[in-house]
Parts: sequence; C-alpha cells; structure tokens
Amino acid sequence: MGTLLCFHAHPDDEAIATGGSMARAHAEGHRVVLVVATDGAHGEVPDDLGSDESLADRRRSETAVSAAALGIDRVEFLGFTDSGMNGWDANDHDGSFWQADTDEAAVRLAAILLDEQVDVLTIYDWHGGYGHPDHIKVHRVGVRAAELVAERMPTMRVLEATMNRDEMRRGIEMAKEMGADDFGPTDDHGEEFDPDAPMDDGNPMGTPESELTLGIDVSPFVERKRAAIAAHRSQVSDQSFFLQMPTELFAQAFGREWFIEHDREADGSGPRLGWMFD
Ligand SMILES: [Zn+2]
Repeated sequence: MGTLLCFHAHPDDEAIATGGSMARAHAEGHRVVLVVATDGAHGEVPDDLGSDESLADRRRSETAVSAAALGIDRVEFLGFTDSGMNGWDANDHDGSFWQADTDEAAVRLAAILLDEQVDVLTIYDWHGGYGHPDHIKVHRVGVRAAELVAERMPTMRVLEATMNRDEMRRGIEMAKEMGADDFGPTDDHGEEFDPDAPMDDGNPMGTPESELTLGIDVSPFVERKRAAIAAHRSQVSDQSFFLQMPTELFAQAFGREWFIEHDREADGSGPRLGWMFD
C-alpha cells in the first residue's frame, strides 16, 4: 500500500480538487495525508461565530469533518495566513503564504513528505487553477519540496491537480440542455461564468484538455466528495451552487479529477484515464 499526500491552499480546497482521489485511495487501503498551507482566515465569516472562536478555528474543525468524510488519516496545517484574493492588501501581510519564502515553506512540506515516505504528492498547476495567490504558491512550494526530497525519494510522483477547461465547457452546455437557466457562479460583474474568459490573473480557469496527462475516475466517490464540500459549512454560500446541483450533473462535473503529471510532457493527445497508484 502507498501513501498519498495532497497539498492544498485553504481548508475546503481538498474537497473539490482531490476529494474523490483521496476517498478512492482510502477505500483501496492507502494512507492519505492532507497538508493545508493556510488558515483560511479570509473566507466568509459565518453569523454564528462565537466571540471566543476565530474563523481559523472554525475552518480547522470543518476540515476535520471533511477529512472524516474522505477517509484522511492525518491533517497538517503549515500555519501561514490566508493571502486573500488577487490584489487584496492581505497579499502583502507578514505571515501570509504569498509572502512566505518559498524555500522555507518547502522545507516544512518536505519534512512531512519524508516522515510519511509519500508515494504520490498532489499540488496545483502553474497558475493555481484560477490565479489565486495562495494556489499559485502551492504549486511553487510543492515543486520545490519535491526537489528537496528527490534524492531520498526518487520514485515519488508529483501530480498537478487542475480543472479540465474543455470538460467545464461541455458541462455548462449539458446543464443548459437540462434546463438550468442560471448556470454557475457569476463573476464580479454578474456575468455568467465562461470557462474561456480570463480570470483576474489574466488566464482562463484550469487547463485545456490537450495539456492534461491523467484523468482519474472517482465516480463511486462523488457523494463522499459532496459530503466533504458540505462539511465546510461556513463557506457554504461559495459552495452552495455545487451542493444544489442535480445528482447527475454533480456526478458529471465531479466524477473525474484531472492532473498534469509534473515530469511528463503532454503530447497533445489529451489525458489517459488511469490511477495515481498504477
Ligand atoms: Zn483555495
């Protein structure tokens, strides 16, 4: 049996991006470790937050519920503060993940990689999927940590989790055919989500299918994934769109997870369907 370590930016990112793969790895008897870079303190503040509880506390306990749903064996927080969205003042705050020294953060992740003798590490693609500073930083720190352990752990695989831009476009068309009139999260200007439009970092969301190398079928685990999303209740208005999706549409949107194998050159033929432990 192997060990999977998923490195994520914020509490709740684990549910959508790699939740199915974690649940599948657990079901097959692998060890599953989640490392979250930040405390998520710039998320939505729930109305019922008590005076003796911080948003970071709340998000930590929600992560434990999500971890139980997905079969995660160990959760570690690297302890950086949330850098907020692109352009927020919080990008520049001391202690924010965006401001952190990449090598220093990578040393902390590398220590866990060594401790766990990880077989598969997941990070994000080069633009963090959608340009969020903390997600871009996960890519950079993850790549650096993998370099730091490469000599001692030469067989560890590094997979960059991302969204399949072509699949998103097809999913939106399918939703419209099924009669969904208001499809998807709208942007700041109230416009309908367009997977080909640039996000606020200038890049469209995710990665074109031709640049992906691995697609993983997690369809037996989509309900676990939905439970993990729901576990992050304080952020649920962000996620409610996903939670309210009809079962068939949710399975279509979340039944596969998409990766770029860090050391494999995409040949343009699109992803093969496979598994991270094959
Ligand atoms: Zn995030």
